[in-house]
Amino acid sequence: MNWEKNVRKVVPYVAGEQPKDQNVIKLNTNENPYPPAPGVANIIQNFDCEVLRKYPDLDMSALVDALSAYHGLDSGQVFVGVGSDDVLAMSFLTFFNSGQPILFSDITYSFYDVWADLFRIPYQCQALDEHFCIQKEDYMKPNGGIVLANPNAPTGVMTELSVLEEIIAANQDAVVIVDEAYVDFGGRSCVSLIDKYDNLLVVQTFSKSRSLAGMRIGYAMGSPKLIHYLNDVKFSFNSYTMNALTIAAGAASVADEAYFRQNLAKVIATRERTKKELARLGFTFGDSMTNFIFAAHKTVPAQEIFEALRANQIYVRHWNKPRIANYLRISIGTDEEMDRLIAFLEQYLETVEK
Ligand code: PMP
Repeated sequence: MNWEKNVRKVVPYVAGEQPKDQNVIKLNTNENPYPPAPGVANIIQNFDCEVLRKYPDLDMSALVDALSAYHGLDSGQVFVGVGSDDVLAMSFLTFFNSGQPILFSDITYSFYDVWADLFRIPYQCQALDEHFCIQKEDYMKPNGGIVLANPNAPTGVMTELSVLEEIIAANQDAVVIVDEAYVDFGGRSCVSLIDKYDNLLVVQTFSKSRSLAGMRIGYAMGSPKLIHYLNDVKFSFNSYTMNALTIAAGAASVADEAYFRQNLAKVIATRERTKKELARLGFTFGDSMTNFIFAAHKTVPAQEIFEALRANQIYVRHWNKPRIANYLRISIGTDEEMDRLIAFLEQYLETVEK
């Protein structure tokens, strides 16, 4: 009767909606509007199902080797998981175990506090300044670890590498995780600092820049020691996280650098054009280095714009949370999708601003 009092209770993370209706213009979960590299389709179409009879490769060598070669690392410096959510969750479980509070921003990826709660890790949020920038002094105090998204989500704001390095250097008794989910869209990666700091773990994903959100591939890069500890925890939890098809498809994506660059350039060009249009319509926003724009309108509340867009089959993301309730996070879609968004906003704002 009393079993319920011993349940591990947690308030789960709320992911963006995935509507069944294919006509929705879906700008709410930062997916890439273009297909994955053609080599990925080739792998899937020609996949030999006989392979599925056996468990997948424990070392996930095809994917780990492709990623380590791509980033100029040893294979012992790469850890692969089921999306970066899986990699981040395993990293929280492995590295944040001191009893001291871990530190992250008050406005950042809203999964960090959920994992901290789930794993009973104490945490302290550090306030971003009025431009949504981190203040490095906030991370110069005793802590049980640090996690920073760079560029940050949902703000899109990038922290300079030199600032991150100061934070990493000042915290060598704790693990610093840099979540680079959006780094390919114009940010600067911390990967170059891995050989200098054995407490730095850099996490990236195939979900955004590689158009593979549905495949679920994420990875971490760090010192061989960090990756070793991460694997110990992972193999104590679930040995076979990545299936054989995913491992092969991921490797095929990494193999096509030209397609990757071309795809990124398209998204970035659309983002820059969308920034100009949104500014013209009275929106303000920081200089996003991601595949989304976090924007507030000068006169019309975000909640109202959100509902009007939704009623017209255009989905963006809105959080009713302190400091960001007047912002919309708008993912970058195709040029046609963004044209339809802008056309709707133009006509809508004209009527409500009168
Ligand atoms: N980090 C950040 C900052 C994100 O926005 C997301 C996407 N929701 C993730 C990690 C997780 O992405 P995935 O699990 O698809 O790799």
